[in-house]
Amino acid sequence: MKMTQKQIYEQERKKIADLNALFMELRTSEDPITDEELRQNVKKNPSLWGRFKNFLPENSHLLGKMNCPVCESNKLKLDEDFPDTMRNCLDCGSEWVIDSDNSFFDITYNSREK
Ligand SMILES: [Zn+2]
Repeated sequence: MKMTQKQIYEQERKKIADLNALFMELRTSEDPITDEELRQNVKKNPSLWGRFKNFLPENSHLLGKMNCPVCESNKLKLDEDFPDTMRNCLDCGSEWVIDSDNSFFDITYNSREK
């Protein structure tokens, strides 16, 4: 059965929420993940860790800002159905989900992956 847009969206939200919770746990545990470890993880596995790179001190100025995660364009628009939590790229047409502070994303439509 093909999932509806709404179901895909809910599934992505759930994934992001789980990942964010895990990350916050890593940051606040007794032996928290260091900036250097985070940096390495982003390098090794950008699709999983890339969303957390804004937490690195050298990227903190990016918190709250966002470029297209696929083509890096800054020409974005709010999604018509989910303006609070989804963004569309005007250059490449990709779509992704953001968190309330704009710092996390998951790509829900990648125009460069067919
Ligand atoms: Zn784009």
